[in-house]
Amino acid sequence: MNTPLPASVVSRRRFLGQLSATGALALAPRALFAAGAPDKKLGVALVGLGSYSTYQLGPALKLTEHCRLAGVVTGSRDKGLQWAKAYGFPETSIYSYDTMAKLADNPDIDVVYVVTPNGLHAAHTIAAAQAGKHVICEKPMANTVAECDAMIAACKAAGVQLMIGYRLHFEPHHRELARIGRVKEFGPIMQMDGANGFRMGGRVWRVDAKLAGGGPQMDMGVYIVQAVCMAKGEAAPVAATATFDPVTRPELFNEVEEGIRWTLEYADGAVAHGHSSYNENMSWFRAEGPQGWAKIEQFGYSGQVLTTSTGPRAFPPVNHQAAQLDGMALSLLHHQPSIVPGEMGRRDMVITEAIYASAKAGGKRVEVKA
Ligand code: NAD
Repeated sequence: MNTPLPASVVSRRRFLGQLSATGALALAPRALFAAGAPDKKLGVALVGLGSYSTYQLGPALKLTEHCRLAGVVTGSRDKGLQWAKAYGFPETSIYSYDTMAKLADNPDIDVVYVVTPNGLHAAHTIAAAQAGKHVICEKPMANTVAECDAMIAACKAAGVQLMIGYRLHFEPHHRELARIGRVKEFGPIMQMDGANGFRMGGRVWRVDAKLAGGGPQMDMGVYIVQAVCMAKGEAAPVAATATFDPVTRPELFNEVEEGIRWTLEYADGAVAHGHSSYNENMSWFRAEGPQGWAKIEQFGYSGQVLTTSTGPRAFPPVNHQAAQLDGMALSLLHHQPSIVPGEMGRRDMVITEAIYASAKAGGKRVEVKA
């Protein structure tokens, strides 16, 4: 069994390459730490009590073995009081966005989980790091690569870990897809296609350029980019070409795209086609090599189906958010690097910026610069 390299010997620049080369990215979190975890449950504070916190992360924190909800950061004191009652943490562990610096005085909170709109991720991550807390930041990591750099630098300066809420790295069907890609079970993956989207119903922050950073590519396309990189052993592509879909609902899509189609090219000649949309319900990814193929359906919270040219591969379902939170807690408790570090979120933002640059330039080929 492979074990991850100690953080001390892994430079940030080579970090992802080494993890994928050692195979650590494919190991189940529990398998990584089979020697057993310290008894301590990490205290997690959620920043932003919107739908993902309310319906997924909060309930998942009741299922986790290695963490617990220990506080919240919210714009509504009343909401904070309701959460304190429901989850059994003290009222002194309710913060507002303006008082995040006071988290530094709360030893009960080890990790801050940023679950606000994308355009606020950088500010909230940096505030949490400056308060000396490890940070989990939701996807997409930020609106720009420059923001990702500032977030990574702030966490490095504070000596805390930065992890991205890439729950599918803790989901067994996607982990199997990543394994197939890494060990080249079907030869090197050369052709990939994926789509992810839903029909947006109304005017929410996700169609506001400042808060969302972009349209469905930021929100849904990141899952296809992630699947592409998984299938290619976590390597990044070298170039992107993209075009925006026609706008059919200008009342909603006057700041961000309604849909976008792109092609990513790899140095070995592999190509990946992606389509993300706020106009169509779709959720799948297919990867093909010279000796076979794999198709995964569903990037959502459940219902993953993995079929391959050698037959279906089924795994018992997991609660994605609980598996992710426990996996992250274990890496912190064991002082090991995360399998979903800030550098991975930055890589995906570099790819995303190249996709947008191409679409804005009318489909011109744009290099993805690592
Ligand atoms: P949401 O709109 O339901 O919640 C956003 C929260 O941020 C709300 O509590 C809102 O009050 C707060 N907020 C603070 N400042 C705000 C401002 N200026 N404008 C608007 N809201 C503000 O959104 P959500 O669906 O919970 O998404 C939050 C983040 O989580 C996003 O980055 C999203 O991409 C991510 N997310 C990830 C997953 C996943 O599967 N990993 C799923 C859903 C959402």
